[in-house]
Amino acid sequence: MHASGISIPPDHPRAKSLYTREMLVDGFRRGLVAPEGLIAHGRGEAYDYLVGERTTKTAQRAIKAAAAALLLSKQPVISVNGNTAALCPKEIVELAQAANAAIEVNLFYRTEEREIAIKSQLEKYGAKDVLGVGAMASARIPELQSERRRVDPEGIYKADTVFVPLEDGDRTEALVKMGKTVITVDLNPLSRTAKMAQITIVDNIVRAMPALVQAARSLNGKPVKKIVDDFDNKRNLKESLKIIRGGI
Ligand code: ATP
Ligand code: MG
Repeated sequence: MHASGISIPPDHPRAKSLYTREMLVDGFRRGLVAPEGLIAHGRGEAYDYLVGERTTKTAQRAIKAAAAALLLSKQPVISVNGNTAALCPKEIVELAQAANAAIEVNLFYRTEEREIAIKSQLEKYGAKDVLGVGAMASARIPELQSERRRVDPEGIYKADTVFVPLEDGDRTEALVKMGKTVITVDLNPLSRTAKMAQITIVDNIVRAMPALVQAARSLNGKPVKKIVDDFDNKRNLKESLKIIRGGI
């Protein structure tokens, strides 16, 4: 396996995890990932160990509910930050197509350079209209400070459902207060984001995204409302915690 010029022996016991790291470091060097994003990934890795570095049954249930909610939604938006753009650009574009969703670049540490780099990365994988770049992000999320508030009036601002993988708790809370349905991917079931969102997929984004694309494709055109209605995020998070504590 190979990224950023460093080869990782495929038989290394932690090859997958090392490869994911290298993708992020490569993304950092290419101006997609913020230095803080590398630290956030480290926190994710620790939780990934605790869930056994696999997509649990509990995560699968959340993935199905997330796909259903995206398909039901009238104006879904996928919010993309540097880590997500570095780790799964292909799946972001595939999910946007499968769920008829818009894509918006939305950064915690916002710079126009990074926004443009992320937009180009997504376009390389086939994205057409990438929202939220530069002056396009002219609307404001109430309750947040300065640059962290900015969103695209055609994207997150008017969306009914926002998919915000690897998001910060404050911003998730602000989106929920705006009345949005919020779906996230977060390996830490105790994070504020995990608790605030209506659907939390406790899984590594590199495993969750391909599964989510798959679920959106296979549920397309089917009656999915019951899947969303029956999903209980609190219960699901409790189950994830139980797995982490070794109960399952
Ligand atoms: P919160 O603000 O929600 O309380 P936090 O401040 O601990 O959380 P942030 O940096 O704001 O963390 O958000 C990033 C979240 O993404 C963290 O909970 C981290 O565990 C999680 N995370 C990082 N990398 C991954 C990954 N590859 N897959 C899934 N989750 C990840
Ligand atoms: Mg945070």
